[in-house]
Amino acid sequence: MSGKVLLLVGGGHAHVAVLADWIRRGPPGAGVRTVLLTPERHLRYSGMVPGWLAGQHAQGEGLVDLAALAARAGVDWVQGRCIALDPVGRSVTTDSGAILSFDCASLDSGGVGQGAALLGNDPRLLDVRPIEGFVKRIAAMPPPRRVVVAGGGAGGVELAFALRNLAGADPRPEVTLATGAAGLLPGFAEAVRSQVATALVRQGIALHLADARLESGRMMTGASTLEPADLIIAALGSAAPDWVRESGLAVDDTGFALVDEHHRSVSHGHIFAAGDVSARADRPLVHSGVHAVFAGPVLAANLRSVLADEAPRATYHPRRHSLYLINTGDGRAIASYGRLSAEGALVLALKHWIDKRWIRQYAKLAGTA
Ligand SMILES: Cc1cc2nc3c(=O)[nH]c(=O)nc-3n(C[C@H](O)[C@H](O)[C@H](O)COP(=O)(O)OP(=O)(O)OC[C@H]3O[C@@H](n4cnc5c(N)ncnc54)[C@H](O)[C@@H]3O)c2cc1C
Repeated sequence: MSGKVLLLVGGGHAHVAVLADWIRRGPPGAGVRTVLLTPERHLRYSGMVPGWLAGQHAQGEGLVDLAALAARAGVDWVQGRCIALDPVGRSVTTDSGAILSFDCASLDSGGVGQGAALLGNDPRLLDVRPIEGFVKRIAAMPPPRRVVVAGGGAGGVELAFALRNLAGADPRPEVTLATGAAGLLPGFAEAVRSQVATALVRQGIALHLADARLESGRMMTGASTLEPADLIIAALGSAAPDWVRESGLAVDDTGFALVDEHHRSVSHGHIFAAGDVSARADRPLVHSGVHAVFAGPVLAANLRSVLADEAPRATYHPRRHSLYLINTGDGRAIASYGRLSAEGALVLALKHWIDKRWIRQYAKLAGTA
């Protein structure tokens, strides 16, 4: 296939693996032009954001330089945000009004925040998505005194710990974690949940195992008030971007692009998707960075195949269990792997080693290390 255009929409964790593959193994074929569309030059690695809040990393750490990687990979980087996708006409419209045509496209643009949709509007509300906007707003504000974190998944839990240990805050912020009715760390083993609950008590973080909502300008769970609060963090998981559903691609019932085991759209064979923007049709797969990272090489192999007019063959089989390392902000972390759990300073050291190694491999490939 020559003279064809592959459009990578979004510079998420799977697409950095595609760029790395192009660098290591060469571009996918003579005459194929690859274009990367992202709104920002860098991908912020969300796993290091709680550590930054707790003073364990600098704000400039935990970034992947997408433009430098693209340059090394022979990929054209276009700065912009996809606002519409036409899979039949094979084009994407960007927020600047540009129209990018493609023969084959791959989506890895993550999910969007749903704080305002689920909780209501409030000037104190700060959504964790997009993560770069979250970082910039926190960095620009004075340290909060009282914080409510809504969301009992790993992201919300880590942010509650991180804000309780917020670098430069004196006194330490009072933190309340409202998990939602599904409780603390749904889907995690009982041993992990109990270790996290103990750490929350030890650090004086108030826990409400109920849905939070804004009612007449007040944060509530059931009949209890969570006020006063000067900052409300929404860590409520990803919602699908509107443009995915509006494109006519097959989507699941929450609007994420439905893909098969090759991460190929089940409705449009020339479109692929991975990471939080996608949903597997053949099996449930939680939205997490781990799966976006591991699906990346599979996506790269399959994009190579279709660009060579071959059927995609690589499949992403998630491991039965994923390793999660939950930073408790106080120099320790809690490890979760299936039913196993462990806690301590060594677990945090392991987390930092894994995170920094992931960032460093891309800095080396991009020539920025
Ligand atoms: C605080 C926190 C901590 C977390 N820690 C972990 C962890 O330790 N382990 C783990 O597995 N998961 C973790 N997660 C979840 C993880 O962040 C996400 O699941 C992961 O980032 C999803 O990766 P992705 O590749 O789908 O997209 P993202 O990482 O969201 O990247 C999307 C990219 O696409 C770009 N983009 C967005 N919209 C558009 C558009 N319209 N057009 C073009 N480009 C666009 C963005 O700028 C970005 O470059 C955490 C989440 C949070 C909030």
